[in-house]
Amino acid sequence: MKLLSNVMEQVLKRNPNEPEFHQAAKEVLESLELVAERHPEFIKAGIFDRIVEPERQIIFRVPWVDDNGNVRVNRGFRVQFNSAIGPYKGGLRFHPSVNLGIIKFLGFEQIFKNSLTGLPIGGAKGGSDFDPKGKSDGEVMRFCQSFMTELYRHIGPDTDVPAGDIGVGAREIGYMYGQYKRIKNDFTGVLTGKGLTWGGSLVRTEATGYGLCYFVEEMLKAKGKSFKGATVAISGSGNVAIYAAEKAQELGANVVTMSDSNGYIYDPDGIKLDTVKRIKEVERKRIKEYVKYHPSAQYTEGCTGVWTVKCDIALPCATQNEIDEQSAKTLVANGCYAVGEGANMPSTNEAIEVFLNAKVLFAPAKAANAGGVATSALEMSQNSMRYSWTFEEVDAKLKQIMVNIYKNASAAAKEYGFEDNLVVGANIAGFMKVANAMYAQGIAY
Ligand code: NDP
Repeated sequence: MKLLSNVMEQVLKRNPNEPEFHQAAKEVLESLELVAERHPEFIKAGIFDRIVEPERQIIFRVPWVDDNGNVRVNRGFRVQFNSAIGPYKGGLRFHPSVNLGIIKFLGFEQIFKNSLTGLPIGGAKGGSDFDPKGKSDGEVMRFCQSFMTELYRHIGPDTDVPAGDIGVGAREIGYMYGQYKRIKNDFTGVLTGKGLTWGGSLVRTEATGYGLCYFVEEMLKAKGKSFKGATVAISGSGNVAIYAAEKAQELGANVVTMSDSNGYIYDPDGIKLDTVKRIKEVERKRIKEYVKYHPSAQYTEGCTGVWTVKCDIALPCATQNEIDEQSAKTLVANGCYAVGEGANMPSTNEAIEVFLNAKVLFAPAKAANAGGVATSALEMSQNSMRYSWTFEEVDAKLKQIMVNIYKNASAAAKEYGFEDNLVVGANIAGFMKVANAMYAQGIAY
């Protein structure tokens, strides 16, 4: 980095103890060096300095009462990063590892991802260090209500529209939506991922996983390959992982692994998704239960071991930094020729380098997993119109959006002399639209 090294230095100085945010900023800024060279007007207008600083960060106390009558306190976050091209949009994550740096890395990535969808949405992210695991429905409900009792004043259908992420699914969205409506007396599209009878969109549940496969299929097609007959390793067993597995199977792949934070299952005959859905979506149990129903499958403790399984295509769909340099090398040595990131930033920067050097087809998260937020934006459109599209209509729009993202990222990579490098391509394509909007809108003195 030459022109933008001072921007990165400022990020490090101003945001100490936020390694995930540093990692995300470095990856993007490195890709934008040539853009800075070609667009001195962006440097003069401080676009790079401004884009790494959130427009607003909200941190708040979330007190709630557990089933034994004890008062518990968690911390809530909403980082409204950039609204140049539309209202803030991005998920809420409930996981004990959540802190400001994690929310900032996710919010920063969200700016470019949302831009890539071609839809008018700005970037944001939020959440809490609350852990829904092991909590009763009543405890989750009281937590969600308390969380929304503060958050409601910062969001709105034309201001900021949160959605789900890790630990926030249909149940949590329901409790938060109920509380928003109670306080505001407004039935409005303020959250996405809602239930189908109260404003939700068909395909939203499947969108990130399906969209990932549509993107990867397009990337494979450009090189004369496809999912058909390929062996696929998937990590995670949550919303993204389950529907990535479903679409990959539909496209003819043999999905052989899934995992959770405790360990992974390997079923060489192909994962039976009905069983996984029952265990994870209905019973909310651990993935190791799977081998009780399918004794020919194996369960291994430790989640990173999933990347030692031989596969053609890897779809990391659990969490950030789950593929490090060593896991990347193992995947390459085992013949893996394509990686599609379903989770946000699942590969470390060192792992990405290993993949790119080995000419592995690499689909970066901000492009490949944009199908979730794209369908959320379609949910917003349907809410505004007070109208619902059919499953087929939404699915067709999702597919078209993913194909367009691939085309735009791929074209931007070529234009800047990085043919086939979708990391650089996605960063540049996502950045240009936001940068032009920021430039046009001027600076408030
Ligand atoms: P879920 O909560 O539905 O599932 C998360 C899965 O990942 C679970 O299997 C979970 O296991 C596992 N996991 C979570 N944290 C860790 C960890 N620290 N180590 C190992 N495994 C872990 O979340 P989603 O499926 O919604 O999200 C998965 C990823 O996809 C995240 O990176 C998210 O940001 C990203 N994403 C999600 C979108 C969406 O629409 N939902 C959109 C775009 C990106 P366990 O049950 O043991 O915690």
